[in-house]
Amino acid sequence: MTIEKIVLITGASRGIGAATALLAAQQGYTVCVNYLRNHAAAQKVVTTIHANGGKAFAIAADVAQETEVVRLFAELDHVGGRLAGLVNNAGILEKQMRVLDMDAARLNRILSTNITSAFLCAREAIKRMSTQRGGQGGAIVNVSSAASRLGSANEYVDYAASKGAIDTFTLGLAREIAQEGIRVNAVRPGLIATDIHASGGEATRIARLAPLVPMQRGGEAQEVAEAIVWLLSEKASYVTGSLLDISGGR
Ligand code: NAP
Repeated sequence: MTIEKIVLITGASRGIGAATALLAAQQGYTVCVNYLRNHAAAQKVVTTIHANGGKAFAIAADVAQETEVVRLFAELDHVGGRLAGLVNNAGILEKQMRVLDMDAARLNRILSTNITSAFLCAREAIKRMSTQRGGQGGAIVNVSSAASRLGSANEYVDYAASKGAIDTFTLGLAREIAQEGIRVNAVRPGLIATDIHASGGEATRIARLAPLVPMQRGGEAQEVAEAIVWLLSEKASYVTGSLLDISGGR
C-alpha cells in the first residue's frame, strides 16, 4: 500500500467518525481509523474503504490516555506517509442526569475523553505538521456540538461544557498555529443519528426533539462528514478558527 497523505480520525469505528473515514478515503486520503474497543466495527470501516478502492488501516488507542496517544502517533510514524489531517472526533456522553447528581468520576471521564484527547492528539499532530518543525502543514477539525451553545440542561451539562471547551480550544489553537501552515476549525453538529443517544439512555431522543429543529428533522452522519472533509481540504484554504453549525437551524 503506497501511502501519501494520511488523515487520522479518532473514534472512526462508528457514527460520524466512520462516515468521515469513508468520505475522506474517497477524496484520496489514506485513513487511520482510530477506535477504543470495537475492533469488528473498525475493521468493517477499513474493509469497506478497501472494497471501494481506497486506503485505510485501523489502530486501537484510548485517546483520553497520554501514553496511548503517544503510542498511536508512533504507530502512525511507523506506517510512513505524511500526516495531512487530524479529526478530533472521539467523544462520549453518559446517562442523562442533573448536575446535582454528577460525581467526579463521571466528570473526569467526560472531560478527559472529550477535551484532553483533543489537546493531546493536536499536540502530536502539530509536531509532525508544523512548517516550523520541518512539516508541510495540515488541517485539524474538532468535532464540537450544538450542545456547546444550548447547554443540555437536565440531560448532560457536563458533555455540553466539554464541547464549550472544544470551541474555545479551536479558537485559541487556530490563532496559535496560523503561521505554521495548520488550519484549525470545528464543526458543531446538532441531532445526528448515531449510537451516542443510546449511551445517554434515550435511543429515540432525536424523534422527541426533531420538532424543535427549524428543519424539523435530525441529521445524518454523512451530512456532518461532508463538512469535515471540506474543512480538511485545500478548498477551505482561508478558513481557520471557524465553528461551523450543522444543526438544521437549531
Ligand atoms: P458514537 O456513534 O457513539 O461513536 C463514538 C466513537 O468514539 C466510536 O468510534 C468509539 O469507539 C469512539 N471512542 C469513544 N471513546 C474513545 C476513546 N477514549 N478513544 C478512542 N475512541 C473512542 O458517536 P458519534 O455520535 O458519532 O459522535 C462522534 C462525535 O460527534 C463526538 O465527539 C460527539 O460528541 C459528536 N457529536 C455527536 C452528535 C450526535 O447527535 N450524534 C451531535 C453533536 C456532536 P468504539 O467503537 O471502539 O467504542
